[in-house]
Amino acid sequence: MTNQCTRTLSLSAALVLVCVLLFATAASAAEKKDTTLGYDDTPFLPDGKWRVHDVKRPRPRAITPGTADTPPSDAVVLFDGKDLSKWQVRGRGKDKGKILPAAWKVTGGYMEAVPKSGSIFTKETFGDCQIHLEWAAPTPPKGAGQGRGNSGVLIMNRYEIQVLDSYKSATYADGQAASIYGQWPPLVNACRPPGQWQTFDIIFEAPRFEDGKVAKPAFVTVIHNGVLMHHRKELLGPARHRQVAKYAPHEAEGPLQLQEHGNPIRYRNIWVRRLTGYDEPAGGGK
Ligand code: MG
Repeated sequence: MTNQCTRTLSLSAALVLVCVLLFATAASAAEKKDTTLGYDDTPFLPDGKWRVHDVKRPRPRAITPGTADTPPSDAVVLFDGKDLSKWQVRGRGKDKGKILPAAWKVTGGYMEAVPKSGSIFTKETFGDCQIHLEWAAPTPPKGAGQGRGNSGVLIMNRYEIQVLDSYKSATYADGQAASIYGQWPPLVNACRPPGQWQTFDIIFEAPRFEDGKVAKPAFVTVIHNGVLMHHRKELLGPARHRQVAKYAPHEAEGPLQLQEHGNPIRYRNIWVRRLTGYDEPAGGGK
């Protein structure tokens, strides 16, 4: 091999080495690209809108979660144990047609239904929402079946999740505590004894109407004392007694009602969150 040949080979080897080094440096730089906030080169998810780990996808707004006694920071607090300023009632007798301040008893951090004072409903209205409330049936218990600690949570003033003392007390299945009244019994009976506080956590999707017809029915998920009672169950319509429920078109939002059924049921710690969709960091609703 000539010296010329040796020099050419050495030069070629050096060039190859430089190329390898450059490639390695570029690869290393690519590896070091900051992906803390996501990627812009991943495949699109089936919706065609966002990539897997999309760097541009809005990050959800931060809220402060609640505790057993306090609501999340983005909740509408409907009763904090102090007063009924968020609630009202339809007048009766000479006050028929009037909307009046709610007249249930407030004491000891809870409200208590006063027989014959009327069902109370919120001034504020809600559509799709998450509801939390706590209730306690009267103790000592009185009555039987539907006469024992009857009340109810009527979403949009119509769709009732039954409140009843169903602890070792029988009634028709689709009318016991946590039932979708007149439609679906709860999956199990998780009632606590009368006098003990019980929780309801409800996720409600309001029905949609178009041209006087149901475009989408209502759906409800109910958790009673931490136990699933209904899992996004479709509602047939508003609560009916001895009739099959059916929808009648109504407004997009409605008040939350607590039923007065002649029994001194207690409620406390009531809050509602308006539900928003995915990728809406600024929040929806009103
Ligand atoms: Mg009821």
